[in-house]
Amino acid sequence: MDRDIKKIETELKKLYSNLEKAARSGELPLAGVSEDIVPGEGPSSAKVLFIGEAPGAQEQIERRPFVGRSGKLFRKILEEESGIKPELVYISNIVKVRPPDNRDPSLEELAAFKEYLDKEIEILQPELIVTLGRYSMAKFLPKVKISQVHGKLHKVKWEGKLNYILPMYHPAAALRATKTKNAFIEDFKKIPKIIPWIQEQKVLLSNQKSKPVVKLTPLQKEFSKSDKSVDDLKSSVIEHLF
Ligand code: URA
Repeated sequence: MDRDIKKIETELKKLYSNLEKAARSGELPLAGVSEDIVPGEGPSSAKVLFIGEAPGAQEQIERRPFVGRSGKLFRKILEEESGIKPELVYISNIVKVRPPDNRDPSLEELAAFKEYLDKEIEILQPELIVTLGRYSMAKFLPKVKISQVHGKLHKVKWEGKLNYILPMYHPAAALRATKTKNAFIEDFKKIPKIIPWIQEQKVLLSNQKSKPVVKLTPLQKEFSKSDKSVDDLKSSVIEHLF
């Protein structure tokens, strides 16, 4: 179903203006003026939402996500090696103001910014959410270790809705170690294969819902199994393809 791009654009503008208002009024931790806010960036028609942790110094200056040292690595791999079309990609952060000295965001800060990221997801309705680092991963997959699950597609029931989550290392970790950087690149390269696969699954599932299922294909069986564990565990790992 084609979405109304103008409407998405308007809603995103309103969201970021609400964030700026909250910053000015002192309601938000870390922020004091509108310019403290680093909004998400990308086309309103994006299908993949990358979620990082929080802006750093350069991001705060330019008011753009992922433009500092680790951001440059992220954008270089995205553009030169991943095979993902730029028009599919939206980039944002879990916390939209820089924490002092780039420290980790506190629980209170994560909680204060939650409603804004949730709204961003609701507006964009991405087909795939890629989490960069532990903090954004923990939003959807609270009990896992990044070293064990990075690069594995997860089907997650989150806030009552089905979401596909691909956890990846944070690019800052990729800057620190060659092994992590190689894993980061390999995980990135899976995305162009995952997107059509998700679209195929959606068609299969909607067909399944609209008529009585006589015989399930192996893939559908896999999905029915994971649907059950989605209810039981809130999330399930799909390892058979990627
Ligand atoms: N690290 C992040 O998590 N986000 C940014 O925007 C920049 C660095």
